[in-house]
Amino acid sequence: MTRDPRFDILFEPVKIGPVTAKNRFYQVPHCNGSGYRYPHTQAAMRGIKAEGGWAVVCTEWCTVHPSADTTPTASARLWTDEDVRTNALMTEAVHRHGALAGCELAHAGLYGHNSYTRIPTMGPSPRPMQPRDFPAQGRAMDKSDIRDLRRWHRRGVRRAIEAGFDIVYVYVGHSLTVFTDFLSPRINQRSDEYGGGIENRVRLLREVLEETREEADGSCAVAIRFCVDEQYGPDAMTAEDGRAVVEMLAEIPDLWDVNVGGFDDMLGSRFRKEGWEEPGIAFVKSLTTKPVVGVGRFTSPDTMVSMIKRGVLDLIGAARPSIADPFLPRKIEEGRAEDIRECIGCNICLASNSLTVPIRCTQNPTMSEEWRRGWHPETMPEKGSDARVLVVGAGPAGLEAARAAGQRGYQVALAEAGRELGGHLNAVCRLPGLAEWIRVRDWRVGQIAKLPNVTVYRESALTAEHVREFGFEHVIVATGASWRRDGVGARNFRPVQGHAQDHVLTPDDVLAGAEVRSPVVIFDDDTYVMGGCLAEKLAGEGHDVTIVTPFPQVSSWTLYTLDLAEIQRRLVASGVAVLANHNLAAISENAVEVTGVWGEPARRLKASSVILVTMRSPNETLYRDLVGDAGANAAAGIESVRAVGDCLAPALLSEAVFGGHEAARALDGPDVADQPFRIEQVPASFEPPLPWADS
Ligand code: ADP
Ligand code: SF4
Repeated sequence: MTRDPRFDILFEPVKIGPVTAKNRFYQVPHCNGSGYRYPHTQAAMRGIKAEGGWAVVCTEWCTVHPSADTTPTASARLWTDEDVRTNALMTEAVHRHGALAGCELAHAGLYGHNSYTRIPTMGPSPRPMQPRDFPAQGRAMDKSDIRDLRRWHRRGVRRAIEAGFDIVYVYVGHSLTVFTDFLSPRINQRSDEYGGGIENRVRLLREVLEETREEADGSCAVAIRFCVDEQYGPDAMTAEDGRAVVEMLAEIPDLWDVNVGGFDDMLGSRFRKEGWEEPGIAFVKSLTTKPVVGVGRFTSPDTMVSMIKRGVLDLIGAARPSIADPFLPRKIEEGRAEDIRECIGCNICLASNSLTVPIRCTQNPTMSEEWRRGWHPETMPEKGSDARVLVVGAGPAGLEAARAAGQRGYQVALAEAGRELGGHLNAVCRLPGLAEWIRVRDWRVGQIAKLPNVTVYRESALTAEHVREFGFEHVIVATGASWRRDGVGARNFRPVQGHAQDHVLTPDDVLAGAEVRSPVVIFDDDTYVMGGCLAEKLAGEGHDVTIVTPFPQVSSWTLYTLDLAEIQRRLVASGVAVLANHNLAAISENAVEVTGVWGEPARRLKASSVILVTMRSPNETLYRDLVGDAGANAAAGIESVRAVGDCLAPALLSEAVFGGHEAARALDGPDVADQPFRIEQVPASFEPPLPWADS
C-alpha cells in the first residue's frame, strides 16, 4: 500500500541544528523503568522504535551526577565513563535504523532523593524535597555548588557525545529538575542574582544552555525540554514566566521541546484528551525560528497533520503513542493507518516505571520484552504445526490470543458466549472518562477481521462437551472473572454479614443496569479505578453516594498511574462523600456498619443500595471441567488446555492482553518454565580490592 498524500507533510525532513530528522515523528524522552539497571532491555526497546520509523528516539532523563540520584527509579545516567558504554548500547540500536538518538541530560535538584548515594540533596533554597514521600530537606546551593553543577552538566554533554548521541538536552520540564527549581518562585527564594525576577531565575538555565552549545560545538544538536506553564497556581512558574523564558532564550537551543502542566502533562485519558496541551504551547513557534516539538498523546495522523499545518508544531512528539505502537510512523507511511494500535491513556506504563520495573503497556504486550523474551511488536514466529486452536471467550485476553495465534498462521476459532466481542471492557469503557479503553477491543477486532484463518462464533457459550466435540488440538480458555458478592477481598477474609440481600450489588450488576437507590454506599476494597468511577457515575446520575474504603484514599493504587490526585478532586467535585480508613463490617436492610481500621468506633451509614467492589473470582468452570478429565481430552484429540487472563488470575487489563499474547506464542514454543526470560546480569567484579582486603 502507498501513503495517503494528505500525510506527506509528516514525512518531510526537519533540520535540527547540525543534524536532520528524516521525518516529523519524534519520540520524546520517556521513563521506562529499565534505565541503567537493564541497559539491554532499554536499548532493544528504543531500537524497535527506530525500526518503526521514528526519526528521533530519546532516552528518559539521564542524570549527570550522583547528587542527582533518582533511586529507586532506575533512570538513565552518565555519572561515570563506564556509563558511556551502557548508553552507547542504545545509540547503536537507534542508529542501526537511521534514526537520531537524543539524550535528556538532567540534574534532579530537589527531586533527587539521593537515597543510593546519600549525598545531601540541593536546590536553589532550603526546601522539603519535592516528592513529599521522603522526609528530608534539600540544602541551598551556594556559588561554588552552582559552578560544580555547571561543570557536571558540561561533562555530561561530553559523555553523551562520546556515547554517540545526536541531540543533547537541557531538561527543564515536569517540575522535576534543578532548572525548574530555579525558575519556580515557589521554590527559588534566593536574594542573589539567581533569585527574584524571571531574568534572575533564568540565569542558571541560560548559563548551562550556552555551555551545552559550546561543549557540543556543532557535533550534535542542543535541545531544551521546557514546561512553559507549571499550572500549579500563582506561586509557581506561570504562563507569563514561561513566555518570558522562551523570549529570552529563543535562539540559543537548536530545538524547543515544550509542554505544560508539570506532572499533569502525563495524566491519563480519563482526564486529558488528545492534543490537550495545544492552547498552552501554541505561542512558542511565534517566538523562535527553531523547530518546536510538543506532545498530546497524538495517535490520529489527521490531528498530527493539523498540528503542523496550523503552525503549532514542527515535530510530532510522542511518548505513550510510541509505546503502544512503536511502528506508528511506518504504518502511516505504508498507507495502513487503520493498523495503528492506539494508546488508551491508562498509564500502566507510568505505573511500571513508578514501581521501578521495565514498563509494560496494555495495548502492546511486547513492550520491554524485546530483549528479554525476544518479542517483536509486529512480527511473530510462523506456526510450528498444523494444529488448530480454539479460544473460548472474546474479552481482551481471548481476542489477543486469537489475533496472535492467527497472525502466526494457525487455524483459529474464537467462541464467545455473548453477541458483542470485548468481554468486561464493553461495560468498563462506559464508566466516566474510560471511553478510550475500548481501543483494546477495537484494534484486535479490526486485526482479526483481516485474518481469513480466524473464525469468530458469537452467541456460543461452550461447555467441556462442546469443546471436546470440536476436537481442536489446542484450547485457550479466556472466560474472564466476576466480582464477588460476599464482601470477601483484601480486607475481609470471611463473607460480610448481611451480604446476601437484594440491595447488595456488585460492579457487574450496576454495569448491567441493575436498579440503584439512594443513599448508596460503595465499599471500595480494590484500590484501582472501579470504585471511584462507579461513585462518579452514580453521583452524576443524581444519587447520594458515600464511598467507604479501608485505604487512606479511594483508588489508592492510582498513585502509580499519576491519576490519584485528580480522582480525589473529581470525587469532591461530584459531591461524593469519602470515608477513608474504614472497613465494611455488616449490612442491614437500610444501613451498613463500618469500623475504623485504626480502632475508631463502629458507625452506621444509611444505605438503600450497597455496592461491593472487593475482588473478582475467575470464571473457571469450563477450564476445570476440561483439565479434570485428561482421558476424555486425549480421546478428543486435545493436546493442550490453558487458562489465560482473568480466568487464570484476575488482574489489570494489561495482564489479560499479555496472557493472551503469551499463550499464542507458547503454542509450540520451548518449555520456558525454568528460565522464562533472559536476565540482565551486572558483571561481578572485585576491583579495586576492598580497603581491608589482604594485599
Ligand atoms: P479477560 O479480561 O480475561 O479477557 P473478560 O471477562 O473480559 O476476560 O472476557 C471473558 C469473555 O468470555 C466474556 O466475553 C464472556 O462472555 C466469555 N465467556 C465466558 N464463558 C464462556 C463460555 N463458556 N463460552 C464462550 N464464552 C464465554
Ligand atoms: Fe498508552 Fe496505556 Fe500503553 Fe501507556 S500502558 S502507552 S497509557 S496504552
